[in-house]
Amino acid sequence: MRHLISNLPLDLGAETRPLEPVLAGVLGGKRNDYSNPVLERRSLDARHKGNIRFLVNISFESVRQLDGMPLPPGTRIEIAPPAGSFEVAAVERKPRVVVVGTGPAGTFCALRLLDYGIEPILLERGSDMSERVRQVNALWNQGRLDPGANSQFGEGGAGTFSDGKLTTRTGHPAIRFVLETFVRFGADPRILYLAKPHVGTDVIRKCSVLIRKEAQRRGAQYRFKTRLVDFRQEEGILRAAITDTGDEIPCDALVLAPGHSARDTFEMLQHRGVAMRQKAFAMGVRIEHPQDLIDRAQYGPSFGHPSLTPADYKLVCNLRDNRAAYSFCMCPGGEVIQCASEVGGVVVNGMSNAKRDSGFSNSGLVAKVGTADFGSEDFLAGMHLQRHWEQVCFRAAGDTYGAPAMSVRDFLDAKATGLLPRTSFRPFAVPADLATCLPGFVLNQLQEALPEFENKIRGFGSREAILLAIESRTSSPIQLLRNDDGQSTSHQGLYPCGEGAGFAGGITSAAVDGIRVAEWIAAKAGAPVFEPFQKRIKSGDVATDY
Ligand SMILES: Cc1cc2nc3c(=O)[nH]c(=O)nc-3n(C[C@H](O)[C@H](O)[C@H](O)COP(=O)(O)OP(=O)(O)OC[C@H]3O[C@@H](n4cnc5c(N)ncnc54)[C@H](O)[C@@H]3O)c2cc1C
Repeated sequence: MRHLISNLPLDLGAETRPLEPVLAGVLGGKRNDYSNPVLERRSLDARHKGNIRFLVNISFESVRQLDGMPLPPGTRIEIAPPAGSFEVAAVERKPRVVVVGTGPAGTFCALRLLDYGIEPILLERGSDMSERVRQVNALWNQGRLDPGANSQFGEGGAGTFSDGKLTTRTGHPAIRFVLETFVRFGADPRILYLAKPHVGTDVIRKCSVLIRKEAQRRGAQYRFKTRLVDFRQEEGILRAAITDTGDEIPCDALVLAPGHSARDTFEMLQHRGVAMRQKAFAMGVRIEHPQDLIDRAQYGPSFGHPSLTPADYKLVCNLRDNRAAYSFCMCPGGEVIQCASEVGGVVVNGMSNAKRDSGFSNSGLVAKVGTADFGSEDFLAGMHLQRHWEQVCFRAAGDTYGAPAMSVRDFLDAKATGLLPRTSFRPFAVPADLATCLPGFVLNQLQEALPEFENKIRGFGSREAILLAIESRTSSPIQLLRNDDGQSTSHQGLYPCGEGAGFAGGITSAAVDGIRVAEWIAAKAGAPVFEPFQKRIKSGDVATDY
């Protein structure tokens, strides 16, 4: 029988010790009384700056009687849940499935379909990894945008140039499947137990290519530089996916996982009457600080301890009228990047490499944009709002793919001095007055929240802090409506999936949604229900998920 001890405090440095003596230290007896220990979870408890420590969960076997054992406050011991298996049998009647998008949602949908013996065709409007990396570098180094392949479009989706944080609040059993897959294809195995797993953009790029090669070996077909432009239905039955290369690909199921930036695809779906609704998102700026400043503020006297990685933060400021400003997608040791995908529009975001060693720290500093702020009943009004402000920022950057920028001090003093702190942003920051680069209601919320954030993190509003605009693609501005069997409420055979469809808000939740869609397709093809993956995800869980 295996036991699980949870919330066991460990001093900084003790995390490198073997687990048997750690268990003997807490539970008594000799180290040999404990066998096959596995670290299941490790989080950092930084609530008390003078006593920063780890909290760990360890499963193990023991020859000792552990009932009634005195434990440190907050620690508990129980029977460990049995490890599950994700294996399923192939279906006999295999549907023809086309998956749109090779982001985490499309990729994991394809992987799970392959487990059921269903061999999908994946359409990807952008290029494969090596070509895509060259195209993105042309934007970051020379300010040249390729609207067909950029940090939103191409192999691996938006996840490829992401920060690679694999956190999600959804608590879904398929998260383990996602993490184990990343580990199998080259990610650091520690992501299986770290409370805030992170792989970094460098690693996720390698994983994406290896996953694709494995999927191809198992029968999936990938078509790069191929965009879904329409689909054909006859008497309410889906017949084919239509691409910009002029092909009609016969299919029984069409998985729509195009991400939140596929604006022409959203337009096509609206035109075809696919059921959708407006969805709230968030908008604002990227804020960047020297990493040391954040580390000192977060770690206090433990600053510089070798057990500590570059510090993160999560800030929320609740405002009047149900408004809120908050930090989003915090990237310790990362860099701010240009993430535009449309000509004449600027979009900023953040990423980091596995080592998180840039010396900078950044996060989105955003305010909630409700559907009432869209100013129109049009389903795509949120998308038009994003586009408008992205274009305003392009002009503010002198008609370039630089980013309009301002120091936090100038922003709070409402005075554009033109003096900019150091930044990691590529291709270049352009001094501007950010008051002209954001909707008034977003501006007001950020101005109100920043002093409160300064109270929480000393130096947050210092002269070294810079703001860059505009962080507009935080999540999808629409949701495609689907039934309990995963299909569109308006069109049988269409399966809305992932972030663009409004069912995920990050890499892991998008991947989990892809898996759920695969389960629905397999169930329709007659597969027995795979019970562990049936858990529903509440839409509130995926709004700002990482
Ligand atoms: C810079 C950056 C940093 C991020 N950091 C993190 C992070 O640290 N952690 C995290 O969890 N999330 C992060 N994200 C968000 C994360 O990348 C997305 O939530 C996730 O990739 C969404 O997955 P998806 O598969 O739904 O869509 P996407 O990853 O957007 O993939 C959609 C794919 O569909 C393709 N496509 C679109 N339309 C068509 C069409 N008509 N035909 C064919 N192909 C089409 C696109 O080219 C794209 O490749 C970050 C995003 C960015 C941009």
